[in-house]
Amino acid sequence: MSTNVLEKMSAPFSTTFDVNTIRQHFPILSRPDINNHKLAYLDNAASSQLPKAVIDRLHQYHQFEHSNVHRSVHTLGEEATNAYESARKKVARYINANSESEIIYTRGTTDSINLVMQSYGRANLMEGDEILITALEHHSNIVPWQMLCQEKGCLLKVIPINSSGELKLDEFLRKLNKKTKIVALSQVSNAIGSVNPIEEMIIEAKKYGAVTLIDGAQGIPHKPVDVQSLDCDFYAFSGHKMYGPTGIGILYANSRMHDRMVPYLGGGDMILHVTFEETIYNEPPYKFEAGTPPISAAIGLGEAIDFISNVGIHNIESHEKQLLDYAHEKVSAINGVQLIGTAKEKASVMSFVMGDIHPHDIGSILNSFGIAIRAGHHCAQPVMKFFDVPATARASFSLYNTFDEIDALADGIKEVKRVFN
Ligand code: PLP
Repeated sequence: MSTNVLEKMSAPFSTTFDVNTIRQHFPILSRPDINNHKLAYLDNAASSQLPKAVIDRLHQYHQFEHSNVHRSVHTLGEEATNAYESARKKVARYINANSESEIIYTRGTTDSINLVMQSYGRANLMEGDEILITALEHHSNIVPWQMLCQEKGCLLKVIPINSSGELKLDEFLRKLNKKTKIVALSQVSNAIGSVNPIEEMIIEAKKYGAVTLIDGAQGIPHKPVDVQSLDCDFYAFSGHKMYGPTGIGILYANSRMHDRMVPYLGGGDMILHVTFEETIYNEPPYKFEAGTPPISAAIGLGEAIDFISNVGIHNIESHEKQLLDYAHEKVSAINGVQLIGTAKEKASVMSFVMGDIHPHDIGSILNSFGIAIRAGHHCAQPVMKFFDVPATARASFSLYNTFDEIDALADGIKEVKRVFN
């Protein structure tokens, strides 16, 4: 790689959004060798790529700062602890949490939702209570609640969607009642990109005293998030979908919930004092973080948050909206392509099918042109069932994608048509 590019990677951001400058920060995007084509990475809803600042920060940590946290008096222990806790502060500031104690490190969104189910759900729900989710959920916001319902005798209710993939809000209001104890909603559907009106839904859920959990896995990479203004009880997300490493996630747990949550993983770090007779737990968030955490990944997430803040989430949102509008226009104009999910409010995700052509074949042919998309059920099988398709092809966009890449996608889709006709 030329020095010029390396210099640009460490150059400060300009206040205006320039996708070519942004791309210089992501070394992987310059790969020219994906089946002899330049990489067009359109699988961001699965995992986004890492900017050099994050890669360098991970490298720096592993080379010079690595140690365990919260236990050692030596210099490395102190440096690692400071870096790890400073990343927590960055997360808290970024989502406008009231305090760092509301930021619980987890392994990802799945882990965060399971933590709510285990720590809050098992301690507080009883037979006959109801849990309300939407028909757009990822399996990780379905299965934990099914497990809880099975154990406790609770009822899982689902807010249906219309043919565009928008929630039927009148049904939501009809399903809410005094027995509704948890309302767990995705902010953005990973399968079809619908943006759910979580602000209004949280207000309605609160009228019945229900606890609210937002699955923000596909929300926070694309939109500003302010948990105090949302006033949700829990907000869950993953580092690897917002330019951070895998293995780290966050559960924001409003402090009003802390005393109602029972730790479900016991071990080191989550305790203040242990005897064989009894254990006194540590304060939140540590109470819910047993064992050695993913230290470097947390520090990497902090760096990813700095990266997003430098670019500006509003710049990211507006660039991605232009990409999505352009992609919809280009791809829906191709005869034989059907978009799945046409909600008025969408973010980053375009799902489509092409008659009898299996999405895996679409994905394979596009891959032969260096274009990476996802093909499958996207861990949202009920969404596939609703639209009566076994799977979809999904292109999902990020701040570093370009209109040229969408042109390449449209050309690739035309080639898929040609091959199968
Ligand atoms: N929720 C949504 C909406 C998602 O898109 C995903 C991942 O694709 C998850 C939850 C699970 O995230 P993770 O696999 O990082 O735990």
